[in-house]
Amino acid sequence: MSTASTPKMERDRETGISILVIGAGIAGLSFAIESYRKGHNVRIVERRSSQESAGERQVQLINSAS
Ligand SMILES: Cc1cc2nc3c(=O)[nH]c(=O)nc-3n(C[C@H](O)[C@H](O)[C@H](O)COP(=O)(O)OP(=O)(O)OC[C@H]3O[C@@H](n4cnc5c(N)ncnc54)[C@H](O)[C@@H]3O)c2cc1C
Repeated sequence: MSTASTPKMERDRETGISILVIGAGIAGLSFAIESYRKGHNVRIVERRSSQESAGERQVQLINSAS
């Protein structure tokens, strides 16, 4: 049986700085991930439950241009 290993995220030395991110949208999550990578301690607060959605899914049409 093969065991999948979880790739580790590279992280700078701990800064001792704590960051509270309000909102787990794409902006909040991106900021949280980068802040963690920079060595900060990150906590995320989200008011919606994981069951709810507000249209944040990305839709890319096959013939779309950007
Ligand atoms: C119906 C709909 C369809 C869309 N379709 C597309 C699409 O097809 N393609 C595309 O690229 N974009 C689409 N968008 C736009 C896209 O959803 C937004 O541009 C994107 O989600 C913005 O990201 P954000 O992180 O800035 O904000 P949000 O995604 O709004 O994230 C903010 C988060 O903060 C949370 N929050 C707010 N206040 C608090 C609080 N006081 N305490 C705790 N949590 C809080 C909210 O619950 C939310 O989860 C769509 C939007 C809608 C509404």
